[in-house]
Order: sequence, then structure tokens, then C-alpha cells
Amino acid sequence: MFEPFNDSVFQTEGSENLSLNMIGNSDDIPSNCLDVNSSGINRRKTIEVNVGDVVIGGDAPISVQSMCNTFTYDVKSTVNQIHSLEEAGCEIIRLAVPDEKSVVGLKEIRKETKTPLVADIHFDYRLAIMAAEAGVDCLRINPGNINGEDRVTEVVSAAKDHGLSIRIGVNAGSLEKHLLDRYGGATPEAMVESGLRHIGMLEKRNFNNTKISLKASDVMKTVQAYRLMAQKVEYPFHLGITESGSLATGSVKSSVGLGLLLSEGIGDTMRVSLAADPTEEVRVAYEILKSLKLRSKGVNVIACPSCGRVQIDVDKLTSEVEKELSHIKEPITVAVMGCEVNGPGEARDADIGVAGGHKRALIFSKGEKDGLVDYSDIKNVLVEKVEALAEKYKLENQKQES
Ligand code: SF4
Repeated sequence: MFEPFNDSVFQTEGSENLSLNMIGNSDDIPSNCLDVNSSGINRRKTIEVNVGDVVIGGDAPISVQSMCNTFTYDVKSTVNQIHSLEEAGCEIIRLAVPDEKSVVGLKEIRKETKTPLVADIHFDYRLAIMAAEAGVDCLRINPGNINGEDRVTEVVSAAKDHGLSIRIGVNAGSLEKHLLDRYGGATPEAMVESGLRHIGMLEKRNFNNTKISLKASDVMKTVQAYRLMAQKVEYPFHLGITESGSLATGSVKSSVGLGLLLSEGIGDTMRVSLAADPTEEVRVAYEILKSLKLRSKGVNVIACPSCGRVQIDVDKLTSEVEKELSHIKEPITVAVMGCEVNGPGEARDADIGVAGGHKRALIFSKGEKDGLVDYSDIKNVLVEKVEALAEKYKLENQKQES
């Protein structure tokens, strides 16, 4: 049950008897409410590279990508996963292409999605050419690993003919033996030298639609490799910590590693690698970007950890609200606070907030008290209000653009 605020459960100042649909004035709407960088971080200067219609580098927003964990020849499962990733906000999707039947799958998959696709290829240059012909937007391939200058020339020609970019993906686990010998292991310096070698092979063929990744499972090794490479080239970087682990450990490692780099202005597109559903990679990537204020896409949920004063089930409510609002693209902050001690303060600062109270909870909209609800109605009221605010932002944004 929802009631306009007319109760003394909370002794906070503010207007009363506000309606369910109160969602702020148009003055509250951000100038570009869809996605803004308000971090103040000076990003490293890079050239711009295209993956389909997504620009990587320059002033483009740091894009979020993921990789399907289905077999690419299993078109139905792969397309289903692509659609889940798109729904989660994934902007670039990578597919493994280990054999010819995967290329056949690629052709079918291409018809089912407009999201830029990256074909992940190791060693076999023929698969790279076939993937280019199948309509992907980028090849992830290391030219130094395809065994011959002529083959590199053929792959580069295919990339040029089809307007593709190439990601050079250096991985600490598969560095060239002579570099391992020279550096005494997969050091950041060895990773950078490997990357420069691959870059040189593409530049020799006048190809510079290139982005680079330098991934290790060791967080600080990865960070150091990107820092070193940032001093040497102007190509954009694809960030990632490889084999980082489960949802919990991988999110922490990625947040630390990618967070350090992004806070230094390094990084143009990113993948959070997790041993989990790929949509979780997208969710975590956006949380990292939102934490640094590099992007503001989607709902930002603030929730108290709860304690002995808690009046509502913050844990369950937060999970439910996050899930039900995952489709929202507009930047909206939602606060879920357990009680009246710190709750109203945080909830008031959010776009939409709730603070638990005795028997009922207080809803805030744009800093104003906006009614009392029974515990059982909190989730539905929050979701309804956020969706209404998102719709208002969307319409306002369309007006600004027209
Ligand atoms: Fe505890 Fe209330 Fe703070 Fe939540 S808002 S942590 S319930 S004091």
C-alpha cells in the first residue's frame, strides 16, 4: 500500500502529500542524460579505431565488451546469449572461431545481430580470412603467431577489404619463447615487446586500425604492462585481467586492475573476464565505469550493508531492484537504506530512494519525501518510479537531440 507522506514515522523536513508520480522538474534532467563522463580523469590520447559502428579510443566512451561461452557452431545458443548480452548493455561481442564449422555458424549469427562482432582466432590465418568474409567487424589475432609473412599480408588485405580492425591480444601465458628466455619469464617488459613486434608487422603493411590488449592473470603485472605500452604507442587499449576467476574474485581483481588503469586515463574498451554468465561481465564492467564516473549508463544502486537497526530486507530488496531495473539505460541513482538513522540522508540524495521505518518505509523522489509504503510494496513502488523517471529522461533527451 502506498500513501502520500503524512506520518510521523520520520521526523525529517520536507514537503508532504506528494504524489506517486512526483519525479522532479525538468530542471533536474541532466543535459546529456544518456551517458556522461563526469570523472575529471584526463584520458590518454589515442587514435580512433572502429569495431563496426563502435568507436574505440579518442574521446569515445569506454566501451564494454564480453565473449560468448557457447560453441559458435551452435547458432541458436550463441544468438540467444548475444541477445542476453545486448539486453545487459554489451556493446561489442567476441566469438571463438577455432574451426571451419564455427565460421559457418558466424555467417548465420551475423544475420541475427547488429552488435559489432569480434572473431577470436589463434594461429590459423585461413580462419581469419573466412571470418572477415563472414561479416565480423574485428579480428582478434596476433600476426606474429600465424607463421609467415605472406599469411600476415593476406590477413591484413582481408581486414582492409572488409573494413575490419584487428586486436592484438598479448597474453602472458603464451608469450614467444625467445622473449621468455630473454626476460626470464613473462614480465611486463616481455609482454610489451611482444605487442610491439605484432604492431610492427601490421604497420609494415600500412595497417593501423589496431587496438591492443596485454593481459595476465597477475593484476599488477597487467597494470605495469599497460603503463609501459602507454608510453610507446598511440593505439587504443582493450583492458582486461585474464583468467581472473569467479564472479567474486574476478570482479575484485578486475576492479583493482582496471580501476587503477582507468583512473590514470588508460583504457578505451574493456572486458571483465569471469568464470560466470557473460552478462555478469557486462554488469561488473559498468559498475567499474560508474564507480569512476567514466560512464553513467543505467541504474546506480546504493544500498546500506544493514545492521541491528535494519527495518527492511535490504539484501533481498537490493537484488530484486537491480534485477528488475537492469533494462534501464538512463543514469538514475537508487538508494535502498535499512532504517531511519542514515537512511533518509542517502535516500534523499538519490534520484529515488527508500528508507526503512517502523512498520512502513519512506520513499524519496528527487530529494523530497514522497510517501509511505508497506514493506510488501517497496519493490514495486521503486521500480515504477524509476521507470517513470527513465521515461521522462528519455523523452527529454529525444527533445534535446531533435
Ligand atoms: Fe544500519 Fe540503518 Fe545504516 Fe542500514 S542505514 S547500516 S540499517 S544504521
